[in-house]
Amino acid sequence: MAVIERRVRYESELDPSFAREVIALSGSPALLSCIQCGTCSSACPLSLYMDYTPRRIMAMVREGFKHEVLRSLTIWLCASCYACTVECPKQIPITDVMYALKRYAIREGVYPPRFPIPVLARLFYETVRRRGRFTESSTVLKLYLRTMPLRILGLIPTGWGLLRRGRFPLRPEGIRDRQGLRRVLQIVERREVAT
Ligand code: SF4
Ligand code: SF4
Repeated sequence: MAVIERRVRYESELDPSFAREVIALSGSPALLSCIQCGTCSSACPLSLYMDYTPRRIMAMVREGFKHEVLRSLTIWLCASCYACTVECPKQIPITDVMYALKRYAIREGVYPPRFPIPVLARLFYETVRRRGRFTESSTVLKLYLRTMPLRILGLIPTGWGLLRRGRFPLRPEGIRDRQGLRRVLQIVERREVAT
């Protein structure tokens, strides 16, 4: 479990617009109606490993603890299982809020350094944006180089086995209408910046 930076925050250090931004990104105004019952945390199969439980994340978003929320491991450990969303008595789409927080953290570049999940998310998007398809071999290689370079050597036997069976194509894959896809993604990116 990550070490949490515990210190008293003064109101002046909080970001009063944070909740508004997260609501716009996630489309979840319902998060303001959280009653802090903790059902989401008890339903979450991963809350044990999180630095802040989903219930605490909801409270911290609402109160403007932007620094802590965007740097927390919780948003990256969320497996999008939707258990919290299904159980929430206030029908708050907590999973969507977690997705919005991931996007926000990537946009601000504040995710935990060398933590593979945000790096993979970014690589995935870059690859798909460029070629329209995800090529596992080059992406896995880049992921390891950026996060845990020393472990590449241990992967050689597996990679070689997959390569021999044609399950690890080295040639980058792509789609025909890359320009069309790029135009669609540009519209989405512009909307994202506007929120
Ligand atoms: S289950 Fe819903 S209402 Fe209860 S703490 Fe979680 S988000 Fe808030
Ligand atoms: S969606 Fe995420 S936060 Fe919600 S229960 Fe599943 S892992 Fe936990």
